Amino acid sequence: MSAIINNRPTIPATKSVRASRMPLAMLCPASIEDDGIPRTSDSPEARMGSAVHEVMAQTIKENWRLDDTEMANKWTIEAYELQKQSHRALALWDRESEWFGDNPEVEVKMSREGGGLMFTGTADVMYYDEARKTVFVYDHKTGWDDADFADQGKAYCFLALGLYPEAEFAHMIFGRVREFATDHVTYTNAELLEWAARVVIRLVHEGGFNAGPHCSNCNRKWNCPEYRSYVGSSMAILAHAMNDSITDKPADLYDAVKVIERFTEHARSALRLYVEDRGGRLSLGNGFDLVLKEQERSEILFGPGRDVLLAKIGPVALAQCVKVKKTELESIVKENAPRGAKGAAVIDLMRDLDAVGAVDTHRIKMMCKERSAVALEK
Ligand code: SF4
Repeated sequence: MSAIINNRPTIPATKSVRASRMPLAMLCPASIEDDGIPRTSDSPEARMGSAVHEVMAQTIKENWRLDDTEMANKWTIEAYELQKQSHRALALWDRESEWFGDNPEVEVKMSREGGGLMFTGTADVMYYDEARKTVFVYDHKTGWDDADFADQGKAYCFLALGLYPEAEFAHMIFGRVREFATDHVTYTNAELLEWAARVVIRLVHEGGFNAGPHCSNCNRKWNCPEYRSYVGSSMAILAHAMNDSITDKPADLYDAVKVIERFTEHARSALRLYVEDRGGRLSLGNGFDLVLKEQERSEILFGPGRDVLLAKIGPVALAQCVKVKKTELESIVKENAPRGAKGAAVIDLMRDLDAVGAVDTHRIKMMCKERSAVALEK
């Protein structure tokens, strides 16, 4: 099978796949078709991932950290969350950095053509160890639900061996930031050629649509007929669950809830844009119009209103009305603290507030999906 791919490309590439899109592509080959839709995501999770990658690239390359508050503003994310994630990413990297020599390459753009497919990708960190004849690749994973990323790792290694043909092995390390764990796997050149040949058969020769929960990661979904049918069957699962209480297939119900949540959010935005385009009023044809109305909302500004409020309701009642936003407070404290002492300033403040009983900590339960066991098969 590896005759389809060898170290010299023979057939010009007609399709291309990015290593980071590989898990989705293997589930649904149609997801890599070029339909003119930009392959970018602007979700808060994607922005957090980009920010952590930027912080880490700078830290590894220049050995100094970008300021979390500035980066949080740049990517419009929470500074505290970014600080937490980038600290974890750094601690994981510190554990593994010994494999990457004194001067590793960061953000290495790679491409390799074979069997009519162009593989592309950017390695977060890479290093060729001549003595071991091994190229090491490191990837920071920042999502909760990074599913099965074995094919992604193989793609990075396949690309890395294209850059270092003298290497006999490629060693992939994933730093799973949120779970605070790393996964290691080593491949030989022959294994990766076999794998790439299977990928070419799946993506170039077989192709086809395959809808499922993975569609949520696909930029084609809003124009994809297969996705629309999948949304229809997800609605049927929800309707069934309403009659039958919770289903005996909880995985299907969970996936259906996520699909319908996203679809409803998208449909609401699309409808709003449609009404906006028609001057803010749309006849529903049943005696009602859908109207975009301006509403006034007033906020009480604590600074200028403080004396009036104290005089009118007194400090005890006022304390019940006032809520201090922790993330904004932390941002201000960090902004005012010198570089290198921002985290310590927040910790000091929280300790002082806690000492006077001003910190009310409670626990909440979030429903999130995580893997049952770590498995990176060859
Ligand atoms: S939306 Fe789903 S079915 Fe359609 S191309 Fe994307 S992954 Fe495939």
